[in-house]
Amino acid sequence: MKDLPNDIDSLKILILELLEENKQLKAEIAKLRGRLGLNSGNSHKPPSSDGYKKTTKPAIPKSVKHPHGGKVGHKGKTLKQVSNPDHVKVHLPEKCTCCGRKFSEKNKHQTIKNRQVFDIPDPKLEVTKHQIGQITCCGVKQHGKYPKLKISKEPQCTTVGHLFT
Ligand SMILES: [Zn+2]
Repeated sequence: MKDLPNDIDSLKILILELLEENKQLKAEIAKLRGRLGLNSGNSHKPPSSDGYKKTTKPAIPKSVKHPHGGKVGHKGKTLKQVSNPDHVKVHLPEKCTCCGRKFSEKNKHQTIKNRQVFDIPDPKLEVTKHQIGQITCCGVKQHGKYPKLKISKEPQCTTVGHLFT
């Protein structure tokens, strides 16, 4: 080790030189650690406190495993009857063919047939369940009819299909 100067001014200059050198060395160390993936950000400590201890964690964490294969829930194109249609419409006979009495949904009736029509109104698939209601009046069983299929002229709003049971 070289001899230190004796006068205060020379010592002050030496200290300033050492401080400057120290600063440059710290900067250099920080730069090198950055290349190694080690930095003070891992420890919430200033760079000078990091030391030379190697962290056990990899710089780049291993990616989380993703399941292979097709998406869950992917099904074919066959439209099956759904258990929870968006709408249920009951089609009753208008009136008694014998006495002319008008029927409404308030009249006691039984569902004898049904089918489901699948429409795409907006982006959502909407299902209307059509039920044919039967009313017995004057000893005659009378039932409604399925409505005529609406075929929209707008290409983006078309009837996809309908199923009969
Ligand atoms: Zn009647």
